[in-house]
Amino acid sequence: LSEKRQKVVIIGGGITGITAAYYLQKEIKDKKLPIDYRLIEASHRLGGKIQTMKRDGFTIERGPDSFLARKQSAARLVKEVGLGEELTNNSTGQSYVLAREKLHPIPQGAVMGIPTEISPFLTTGLFSPMGKVRAAADFILPKTKEKGDQSLGHFFRRRLGNEVVENLIEPLLSGIYAGDIDRLSLMSTFPQFYHAEQEHRSLIFGMKKIKDLRQKPSSHGGKAKGQFLTLKTGLQSLVDAVEEHLEPTAVQKGVRVDSMHESDGKFHLSLSNGDKIIADSVIVTTPHYAAQSLLPQCSLLQPLKDMPATSVATVAMAFPKEAVKQDINGTGFVVARNGDYTITACTWTHKKWPHTTPEGKVLLRCYVGKAGDEAVVDLSDEEIVRIVLEDLNRIMDVEGLPEFSIVSRWKRAMPQYIVGHKNTIETIYDQLEHTMPGLFLAGSSYEGLGLPDCIDQGETAVQKVLNLLQK
Ligand code: FAD
Repeated sequence: LSEKRQKVVIIGGGITGITAAYYLQKEIKDKKLPIDYRLIEASHRLGGKIQTMKRDGFTIERGPDSFLARKQSAARLVKEVGLGEELTNNSTGQSYVLAREKLHPIPQGAVMGIPTEISPFLTTGLFSPMGKVRAAADFILPKTKEKGDQSLGHFFRRRLGNEVVENLIEPLLSGIYAGDIDRLSLMSTFPQFYHAEQEHRSLIFGMKKIKDLRQKPSSHGGKAKGQFLTLKTGLQSLVDAVEEHLEPTAVQKGVRVDSMHESDGKFHLSLSNGDKIIADSVIVTTPHYAAQSLLPQCSLLQPLKDMPATSVATVAMAFPKEAVKQDINGTGFVVARNGDYTITACTWTHKKWPHTTPEGKVLLRCYVGKAGDEAVVDLSDEEIVRIVLEDLNRIMDVEGLPEFSIVSRWKRAMPQYIVGHKNTIETIYDQLEHTMPGLFLAGSSYEGLGLPDCIDQGETAVQKVLNLLQK
C-alpha cells in the first residue's frame, strides 16, 4: 500500500521562506515524515532583500548589512549551514547624530537614545539646557495608565520631552523602521520600553537596569564586541549556503504564485507558468500586500491592504582614501528630521566593517527615503548620488565623484508597524487558525523585520505546519 503523502508550499524565497524550507526539510528527513514541500520564488534568485554585490575588491550589501548578535537564531542558522568561520562582529566606534548642522557624538550610555548615564547627557551639545531639564522629568513623572498600544512618539515625548525625541530617539528608531515615530506602535517595536516604565516608573532608571544586566562584565576584561554580526563573504553567502542544503527539485525560481483559494481544507494555487498545485498547508512569506492580493476574497486579510510600507534606497559609494579630506573618527551617523537633509543615515562601512573595503579605499553607504518623504527614491541614480554628496559635503569634505556608486531601490520594503499592529496581526493569525487552518503568514510584515525575527518566524511557521499535519 502506498503511503499518503502531504504537500506543503512555501511562497517567497526571502530569508523567511528559505529558513522555513530549510527547517521543514530537516524535520522531514530527521523524522522520515511523509511530506513533500515546494519553495516558490517569483524572481530568479533566492534571498529577497538580502543581496550582496562584489566589485573591485569591495563587498557591498544592497539591502541588510548585518543582524543583531543578541538574537541568536541568525548565527545559529549560519553555523548550521557551515559558515560559522565567516561570522564577524562590527568594529565598535563612535556613532553620531547629525542635528543642528553638526555631528554630535551619541552620548555614552544611550540605549536607543534613552539616557542611562547622567554626565554624558549633561555635557552633550545635542540638547539645550531646557531640553535636558525636561528629560530629567522622567525621574518624577508617574507611569502611564494607558493600557492599550500607543505611538513611540507619544510615549517618549511624554517621558523625555520633544527635544530628546527629535534630536536623538527619533533618528535612531526611524533609522531601523524608516517610519514616522508618531505613528509607529510601541508594543510592536519596542515593548521593552513600556515594560521598563511599568516596572521601574522611570524609563531612564529601567533601561539602566536592563543594560547592566545585559552587559555582564567580561571575565577577561577584553574589549567590548560590536553588537552586530555579518558574514565576511557577504550575507548572500548565507542564502547560497541554505540553498545548497535544499533539494534542488523542491525549489522553483522565476515562478510567481498568482492566486490561491481554499476548498475543503485544501489550498489550490495557480502559478504564473500555468501550473496548478494542490497543497495541504501553505506558508506565505511574501510582503503583506502581496499576501493579501493572493487571496483578495479573504476578508480576514483586508487589514493588510491598508498596512503602509515605506520605500527607501541605499547608496554605496567607493572613493580612494585621499578623496575624504576631513575624515571623522567613527562608524557613521543618523540624521535628525528637523534639519533639511535628504539622507537619513550614513555608515562609514570601511570602518564599521573593514573586511568590505580594499586597502587605501573608503566605502560610504547612505540611506534616503523615509515615511512621508519617499519621492527621492524615484529619482535617477545620478540625481540621488548628487543629492547624497551635497548633503555629505555639508559636514565632511569629500572631493570629486566616487570611483563607482551603487544605488539600490527598495520599493514598499519597510513595513510600518503602526499603532494597533500587534492586535491586528494576532487577530488575523487567530482567525486564520479557525477559518483556514493550514494557511500561515510569516515574515517581516508581521512579527519583527530584523533578519533574526524573520528566521524565528520561518521556524515557528514550520512547527505550526507540522503540528497541524501530524494531528
Ligand atoms: P523578502 O526578503 O521581501 O522576501 C519575500 C520574497 O517573496 C521575495 O523574494 C519576493 O520576490 C517573493 N514573492 C513576492 N510575491 C511572490 C509571489 N506571488 N510568488 C512567489 N514569490 C513571491 N534587517 C536586519 O536585521 N539588519 C539590517 O541591517 C537590515 N537592513 C535593511 C536594509 C534595507 C535597505 C532593507 C530594505 C531592509 C533591511 N532589514 C535589515 C530588514 C530585512 O532585510 C528584511 O526584513 C528581511 O530581509 C525580509 O525578509 P522576508 O523573507 O520577510 O521578505
